[in-house]
Amino acid sequence: MVKYVYEFSEGNKDLKDLLGGKGANLAEMTNLGLPVPPGFTITTDACREYMHSGVLPPGLRVEVTQSLRQLEDALGRQLGDFHDPLLVSVRSGAKFSMPGMMETVLNVGLNDASVEGLASFANNERFAWDSYRRLIQMFGKTVLDIDGDLFAHALEAKKTAKGVAADTGLDAEDLKALVTEFKAIVKRESGRDFPQHPREQLDLAIEAVFNSWNTERARLYRRRERISDDLGTAVNVVAMVFGNLGDDSGTGVCFTRDPATGTPGDYGDYLPNAQGEDVVAGIRNTLSLADFEKLDPNAFGELKQVMRRLETHYRDLCDIEFTVERGKLWMLQTRVGKRTAAAAFRIAHHLVEEHLITMDEALERVTGEQLSKLMFPQFDVKADRTLLAKGMAASPGAAVGQAVFSSATAEAWKAEGKDVILVRRETNPDDLGGMIASVGVLTSRGGKTSHAAVVARGMGTTCVVGAEALQVDVAAKQFAVNGTVITEGDTIAIDGSTGEIFLGSVPVVPSPVVRYLEDGLDAALDEVAVDDEETRELVVAVDALLTHADEVRKLHVEANADTPEDAQRARTLGGQGIGLCRTEHMFLGDRRVLVERLILAKDEAEQQSALDALMPLQREDFIGILTAMDGLPVTIRLIDPPLHEFLPDYTELKVKVALAEERGDTSEDAARDKVLLAAVDKTREANPMLGLRGVRLGIVIPGLFTMQVRAIAEAHAARLKAGGAPKAEIMIPLAASVMELHLIRDEAEAVLKAVAEEQGVTLDIPIGAMIELPRAAFTADRMADVAEFFSFGTNDLTQTTWGFSRDDVEGAFFTQYTEKGVFSVSPFESIDTQGVGGLVKMAVEKGRATRPDITLGVCGEHGGDPDSIHFFHGVGLDYVSCSPFRIPIARLEAGRAAVVSGGGDTR
Ligand code: PEP
Ligand code: MG
Repeated sequence: MVKYVYEFSEGNKDLKDLLGGKGANLAEMTNLGLPVPPGFTITTDACREYMHSGVLPPGLRVEVTQSLRQLEDALGRQLGDFHDPLLVSVRSGAKFSMPGMMETVLNVGLNDASVEGLASFANNERFAWDSYRRLIQMFGKTVLDIDGDLFAHALEAKKTAKGVAADTGLDAEDLKALVTEFKAIVKRESGRDFPQHPREQLDLAIEAVFNSWNTERARLYRRRERISDDLGTAVNVVAMVFGNLGDDSGTGVCFTRDPATGTPGDYGDYLPNAQGEDVVAGIRNTLSLADFEKLDPNAFGELKQVMRRLETHYRDLCDIEFTVERGKLWMLQTRVGKRTAAAAFRIAHHLVEEHLITMDEALERVTGEQLSKLMFPQFDVKADRTLLAKGMAASPGAAVGQAVFSSATAEAWKAEGKDVILVRRETNPDDLGGMIASVGVLTSRGGKTSHAAVVARGMGTTCVVGAEALQVDVAAKQFAVNGTVITEGDTIAIDGSTGEIFLGSVPVVPSPVVRYLEDGLDAALDEVAVDDEETRELVVAVDALLTHADEVRKLHVEANADTPEDAQRARTLGGQGIGLCRTEHMFLGDRRVLVERLILAKDEAEQQSALDALMPLQREDFIGILTAMDGLPVTIRLIDPPLHEFLPDYTELKVKVALAEERGDTSEDAARDKVLLAAVDKTREANPMLGLRGVRLGIVIPGLFTMQVRAIAEAHAARLKAGGAPKAEIMIPLAASVMELHLIRDEAEAVLKAVAEEQGVTLDIPIGAMIELPRAAFTADRMADVAEFFSFGTNDLTQTTWGFSRDDVEGAFFTQYTEKGVFSVSPFESIDTQGVGGLVKMAVEKGRATRPDITLGVCGEHGGDPDSIHFFHGVGLDYVSCSPFRIPIARLEAGRAAVVSGGGDTR
């Protein structure tokens, strides 16, 4: 029989798939002997089974009974007992943290009888009734699906009637009355009484947590974070401990290092006399840990010890939730904490320096995605700026946008192409859509661990929280700060690294990490202020990790570049050659007329003369690129797109000709347009991506590829003569059959031989093929007879494997496809490992079987995508080629791939 319930003592931190992150870590802390309230975890297996069949698995009820009894026996209290009741929390917890996206129900077990028992146990009537009204409120909203505002409004009304501002102004009698009102709301809205039986409450709460896996906001979050919908959530049932028993109680969240900057040292928020989610929700402003120490030195001392213990155990930044119940510390949760990109690099490097992790492990702790975030520009400190206020720096970045005050407006304005900054008093999980749509998020309340901060950090969105000077009036769509009023649509700028909020827009400057990548460590450090320790350490950490990645990676990283400037940029950023030099731009601009002449040519002589005019221009292009990449390979692809792409637009030309005819225009130009129109009409294709392009052009249009090969050969020879070390390679696009390769190769070899003789040099120019059609992959063993290298064109390979026309489908229906789960990410963005990847893998094997020393690379967009890079490492490619600005990211990810697959060293 499948086991659906695990006691905390039965699990450990490596069982996240089964127990979810929260359950696995509660188990780990229990086994470490830390003060964790007892409880048990219902597995994700049970959730998946429930999602599949729509009912709780039959055995689950029995296992819950057994575990509950064990819990009751251990504590000597019964769930919902009359006298001294055991209460439990029912908390969601998936494998990957989804902050605030799923549901939790606290105080399960309270009813009309046990509330009295709780009052006498706590010796506090007010507390007991407050807990009961919270249960009905949470249960009503989460389990019975009642509009939460109904409860919130009743609570507000009660406060207004009593003339108090905070919940704490309500006494036990007020709360008793509120419980009666809440019960009436439940009856009216759900048609049933609030369930009094504790076990019924528990079972319904478990089911509600399972259901919360599939709420709209949870699905949206998962899509964004690329978390699979199939994982399901675990449910943790934990004995309640109370942070709201009075001033000697409280609840808090802390980090073992600053998650925003990575600076070592404890960091956190504490809220006295509060329960559960109050801290994260950012409702009241919190105390710092230093204030907590003054308030309760004993509990603080114990917390510090636990923090050190956890960091040593997990060897990483830990994020901790705790509660103090009458001076006694309880650990409610820990996990390896989310962090900003800068913090990730600094922490990884610090941990190496502290001898807690190896360099390889450090590399696993950072990602290419994070590195790309560090390459964003920052605000120019030297520019004129009007500081409005300063809040807490919660998620770094420099955001400029128009202030909006609701999620709906954020989404609507973003759809109109505007940059917006979402301004709220605090955010809650329902704001997720608006947060995604915004370039920045600004709140007036809450700490670095509030919902806004946690979610924004996770998304990499710039965020400033707790800017108390702001008086945010969401209804009036404005905020006031020190006499200035900002209304909806006004431009503001927020700095998520300093917490500063500016009026109007502020210019940005390049990031120090980019300076480092371009000019090296010393130059970058020279520009950073001597006392700016954070930035200095960050640049040093990036250097250390990237250097290590370069040492361990097996994949070379090359660039897709087709101008000398791009080649130079790629080289500066660490590119080891050009994996794809597209030659099509060399047929544009003022060279377009030569292409027209080529297509309009009446005979071979005219065609040749057009080609002869193009050749020297191409040769100069290649000399420039070979010079910029001297000593490194430059893979030049012969022309690929259909030639009509270089001709005027058919419809426009047709209108032009018709108008000329109407005018009776008999000029030479008009006559020429007419001929051109006929030619354009003749070359038109219903589906150009599958038409006359790539190698087919070379076969059908005599002299076209010959001209390009000659330009390459002459450029190569010129560079040799100039004392350079050119390493040109010729690449044939879109071949499907080895015969196509034979035809082009024979033609190219003849040209190479001729040029070598003419110039008196040896030309060592390999000829290879792009593998971008399924047939090419299937016949790769034969293709390798002729091709000295393969470069996988995964853009076309994805188009032709899926039968998708990229330009047509991505905008048209990919959103629906991701929503309906056909794929979680576009196969054009990240390689479809099973389908397209399967073809790559097969072609690698077949290619190597024929030609063991064949060079294998990839030059589709996937060459710069982290997940795809790991896949290409896995199938044993020699290099990836990507756009120049992604090179540092690819270097880092190639290093990580080597380490993850066990290829790195263990320093
Ligand atoms: C490819 O198809 O992956 C490729 C690199 O070629 P292009 O994108 O130019 O068609
Ligand atoms: Mg292609």
